[in-house]
Amino acid sequence: MSIEVKEYYTPMIKQYLEVKNTLLDAIVFYRLGDFYEMFFDDAKIASKELDLVLTGRNGGNNEKIPMCGVPFHAANNYIYKLTERGYKIAIVEQAGEVVSGKLVNREVTKIITPGSIMDEQIDEKSSNYIVSVYDDYEHLILVYCELSCGELKAQYVERSSISLKKAIMSLDPKEVIVNSDLNTEYLKMLQKLPNIVLSFEDNHELKKNYEYLIKNNQPYLKEALGQLINYLEYIEKTDITHFNELVIIPKDAYLKLDYASKQNLELTHSIHNKKALTLWQFLDEARSSMGSRKLKNWIEFPLVNKKEINLRLDMIEYLQFNFIMKDELKEYLNNIYDLERICTKIAYNTCNPKDLKRLSTTLKYAPMIIDIFSDFKPLAVLQKIDVCKDLNDLLKDIIVDEPPTSYKDGNVFVEGYNEELDNLRKLSSSGQKFILDLENRERERTGISSLKIGFNKVFGYYIEVRKSNIDKIKDEYGYIRKQTLAQAERFVTTELKEKEDEILHAKERSLELEKVLYLDLLEKIKVYLPKLYKLAEALSYIDAIYALSVISDNPNYHRPQFNDEHVIDIKNGFHPILDHLMDEKPYIANDLIMDQDDIIHLITGPNMGGKSTYMRQIALIAIMAQIGCFVPASEASLPIFDQIFTRIGANDDITSGQSTFMVEMNEANFALRNATENSLILFDEIGRGTSTYDGMSLACAMIEYISEHLKAKTLFSTHYHELTSLSEKYNNIHNYHVEVHEEDDEVTFLYKVLAGKADKSYGINVAKLADLPSELIMRAKVILNNLEQEKIELNSDNFEEIKEEKPTIKNEVITMLEDLNVDDLTPKQALMLLYDLKQKV
Ligand code: ADP
Ligand code: MG
Repeated sequence: MSIEVKEYYTPMIKQYLEVKNTLLDAIVFYRLGDFYEMFFDDAKIASKELDLVLTGRNGGNNEKIPMCGVPFHAANNYIYKLTERGYKIAIVEQAGEVVSGKLVNREVTKIITPGSIMDEQIDEKSSNYIVSVYDDYEHLILVYCELSCGELKAQYVERSSISLKKAIMSLDPKEVIVNSDLNTEYLKMLQKLPNIVLSFEDNHELKKNYEYLIKNNQPYLKEALGQLINYLEYIEKTDITHFNELVIIPKDAYLKLDYASKQNLELTHSIHNKKALTLWQFLDEARSSMGSRKLKNWIEFPLVNKKEINLRLDMIEYLQFNFIMKDELKEYLNNIYDLERICTKIAYNTCNPKDLKRLSTTLKYAPMIIDIFSDFKPLAVLQKIDVCKDLNDLLKDIIVDEPPTSYKDGNVFVEGYNEELDNLRKLSSSGQKFILDLENRERERTGISSLKIGFNKVFGYYIEVRKSNIDKIKDEYGYIRKQTLAQAERFVTTELKEKEDEILHAKERSLELEKVLYLDLLEKIKVYLPKLYKLAEALSYIDAIYALSVISDNPNYHRPQFNDEHVIDIKNGFHPILDHLMDEKPYIANDLIMDQDDIIHLITGPNMGGKSTYMRQIALIAIMAQIGCFVPASEASLPIFDQIFTRIGANDDITSGQSTFMVEMNEANFALRNATENSLILFDEIGRGTSTYDGMSLACAMIEYISEHLKAKTLFSTHYHELTSLSEKYNNIHNYHVEVHEEDDEVTFLYKVLAGKADKSYGINVAKLADLPSELIMRAKVILNNLEQEKIELNSDNFEEIKEEKPTIKNEVITMLEDLNVDDLTPKQALMLLYDLKQKV
């Protein structure tokens, strides 16, 4: 809500409010002298978040306005902290001349948001996405970018809240931009997403000067991009010049992994504790942070194109074969820096001399890195990459070895770069020496050892002599009296005055010149930016390949093969990370063999037997294969999966406040509605969160549904032993179990996955392992015996009965219509629905 501008407010507060009331969703940093001040509620929020003292300022009529401030030179740190907590900050600077007695003009120079902040403190290995959502009433178009890299991508998403949520979550952005009349259902969903700031932009007209970013004519893409660019211009207060051409991510270009699966499998984020090793961390042998980011991107978006996957695998093999070159490659990669981010800093004029040095070093090594692959025929295009030799020549040897962080401090360029600069530098440093020499000479000449040469702003350089020595000064010395102090007299000489001017101005002028030279150089480099971004792309690609090749060197890892026959054949597969972390006991390897018409493996066995681990390991092997990495198995032939759905381990969805059971059902629903015969489904003890019969019936119906309709390869672990009888009814369902050894009531886990069902559930034995009181264990055994005697056998016969109770067609049609939101349908969807209904009837 805007703040009321009261009649009696001081002109400054009035000016403040004029700005503030246009920036209601940001904290305004208002420049007053050497401070950024915050007022009103902004001050209250900032003082709390940043631990600052809350003071007050007289706003007129003795009204005390809450105020707090931060020194402007330390502002970055505070700004970073606030954006980390999801705030936006508007910087308001003084503009125009300061005339005493008159209020200085002020203007917003920049708005810093969680998605747009570029700060050294940001983890350089992760991406900071801003996503803009545009509804063209046929799809939702997501256009997203990472400001610090210049990458610009678009993606089409089905018009539904759940698809939008999944798409956004899998991009993991810091900020989402929408049009304020976006469908309220979507808006509400977006508002609920944690750690994401929602921003509004209603102008979606793409300005002419950005049209070069779009090469194809997809309808509404321009508007979708316009919405993003207009927002960026609004916050940056400048043109956005460093973007690369918009890349449209085709719908089926990647293996789809929904957010929950990525979380479950701990691909790039760990769920339980921060220390757990994610797949990304495990694989990340990249030498540069842009290589790490590339690898993260590969893990989040594994490939589905056999040729592309095999290209990466071929490169890995090429490096393994040429292992000496691989060592050289490592050496070269160790010398490259984050070229992507350096490019963006150049575009924004925030590139410091250290960055330039890094750029120069990177350019020096780039040709050698690319040359490593000169005999690798499948990627001949790599050899056509422009390594910017001219720029390398230009930058080579012109920057000192240890450049300063700010170019304003001078000493960026080496001697010999610019003659005038050399002269000025000589003058300014020889000036200091001249003064020292002069001091010595004057001491000798006068015989006054306490004589000294000093400097102040009013008189410049002077010779100071104590009163007690004053009679030693002779006329012939040419001392001219300048100032008399209580204890001393100050003099100048003609020589001193002459030098003074030179010395004083040489330093200033050398700094000034160096600044001009530096900015000049940046302009020259800007011309190379498009080429540099392409080079960065190539180098990070090679770096990521290098990382994968290091992992693939492990003798227990092998190159995966891909088949089109829907066959899974993994021999001696293991969980890459668990195997790596286990030091005492060995990890037990397991096979997974599923023929063409083998659809579901039903896995039973006691708690702690290794079921969940086995399922995770299969998912990780499939994902690693489609990233183009060797896999932890002695042999692996796999189909190329289009999607992997996992429901492993109970996880409450804190983001929506849903119960475990509801989350489980939602995820199961998403899998069952989207899986195809090319998908992999991993359901781990589904139905556990409700009563036994409920849970069992749901699990049973899901298995039947997959077996009859979806035909997606599925591993289904369950503690409902009754379900094992399903294999008698369906040829494509088979029973497996994790092996345990039982002797005198004691169980040992063997972690071998074998054909056949488990003979019992061992729950009580496992409880015993957990050291529950023995009296309690005894009692549990008695209860179990009683129960087992009355147990209802759930066999294939009564499944038949259950099936008959399926809803009648009429009921089904009614439910379908009740669940329908007519306003949300596209004409095409409506037509499809009619066909569906007709077919049912
Ligand atoms: P379940 O899902 O059957 O209850 P988990 O998969 O959670 O069992 O496994 C329990 C523990 O057993 C794991 O944390 C791990 O320490 C160990 N484990 C699982 N599989 C293996 C294996 N193949 N080799 C060695 N240890 C294993
Ligand atoms: Mg488990």
